[in-house]
Amino acid sequence: MDFLRPASWEEALAAKAEHPTAVPIAGGTDVMVEINFDHRRPEYLMDLTRISDLYAWEVGDDTVRLGASVPYAKIMEHLRPELPGLALASHTVASPQIRNRGGVGGNLGTASPAGDAHPALLAAGAEVEVESVRGSRRIPIDDFYTGVKRNALAPDELIRAVHIDKADGPQQYSKVGTRNAMVIAVCAFGLALHPETRTVRTGIGSAAPTPIRAKAAEEFLDAALEEGGFWDNGKIITPSVAKQFADLCAAACNPIDDVRGTASYRRHAVGVMARRTLTWTWESYRGAHRTTEGAA
Ligand SMILES: Cc1cc2nc3c(=O)[nH]c(=O)nc-3n(C[C@H](O)[C@H](O)[C@H](O)COP(=O)(O)OP(=O)(O)OC[C@H]3O[C@@H](n4cnc5c(N)ncnc54)[C@H](O)[C@@H]3O)c2cc1C
Repeated sequence: MDFLRPASWEEALAAKAEHPTAVPIAGGTDVMVEINFDHRRPEYLMDLTRISDLYAWEVGDDTVRLGASVPYAKIMEHLRPELPGLALASHTVASPQIRNRGGVGGNLGTASPAGDAHPALLAAGAEVEVESVRGSRRIPIDDFYTGVKRNALAPDELIRAVHIDKADGPQQYSKVGTRNAMVIAVCAFGLALHPETRTVRTGIGSAAPTPIRAKAAEEFLDAALEEGGFWDNGKIITPSVAKQFADLCAAACNPIDDVRGTASYRRHAVGVMARRTLTWTWESYRGAHRTTEGAA
C-alpha cells in the first residue's frame, strides 16, 4: 500500500486525478477500521491531514461553510448556535477520542445509513461542495446518498466543504442505541423547524438503505401548521397532528432486521422520536414566540 501526502488542496486534486482509486483518509476512524479488519486493501491511501483549509469553517450571513475535516468536537464547541441539530448529532457520535478526529466529510465519504451527521444535514438543508481537477460542484444533500454506503462522488472528486443553512428555528436530534455512548444508531431522527419559510424538514437515519427525509410527513405538517395558524398563534400542536406526523415518519422508513434491531422496532422507534422531537422543537418555538409577542 502506497501513501500519498499532498501538502495542498491542489496537490490532493492532482493526486486523485492520477490515482482515482486512492482512498482519502481524514480522521481515519472509518478507514483504519476497514483496513484493520481487512475489509479493504487500497493500492493508495491519501492522507488529507496536511490540508489546513479542510479544518476551517466560516460563518456567513445565512450559511456555514464547514471544512470537510472539521472534527465533531469543534462543531459542538463552536457552532452550536448556528447548527444546533448537527451539534446535537455530533454529541451522540462515539466517544471524545473519535469526536476529536472524525468529521462530517468522513461521515459523508462512508455514507453509512447509520451515520449521525446525515439526518441533521438533511433536516437543516445542506449542500456538499466537491471538487476535482475538472472543476467544482455543489451536490444538494437530498441527491448525495445513492445507495447503501454509496454516494454521488465521482472517482476523481474530493469533498472540500459542506454548506449548511444557519438555523432559523429550533432543531433536534434523537438517536436510539443499545447504550448511551459508543454506539452506532439503531435508528435516528433529525428535525428542523424553519419559521422563515414556514416549513419543517426531517432526516431519518438507519431505517432505510440510505439516510432519507420523510417528505409526506413534512408536507402534512406544513399544511397542518399553516391551516391552524400555528406559526402565528404559537399554540400547542394538537396530539392528533403530532400522531399523524409520527405515523407518516414511521411509514417513510424501509428498514431491515439486523444485529442492532428489527425492522418493526425501527419503524416504531422512528415514530416515537418524530413525535418527541416535534414536541421539543415546537415548545422551543412557542417559548421564543411568546418572548417576541411580550416584547412587542
Ligand atoms: C469506535 C468507533 C465508534 C464510532 N461511532 C460512530 C457513531 O456513533 N456515529 C457515527 O456516525 N459514526 C461513528 N463511527 C464512524 C466514524 O467515526 C464516522 O463515520 C466519522 O465521521 C468518520 O470521519 P473520519 O474523518 O474519521 O473519516 P475517515 O475514516 O478518514 O474516512 C471515511 C470515508 O470518507 C472518505 N473521505 C474522508 N474525507 C474525504 C474527503 N475530503 N473527500 C472524499 N472522501 C473523503 C474516506 O476515503 C473514507 O471512505 C465510529 C467509528 C469508530 C471507530
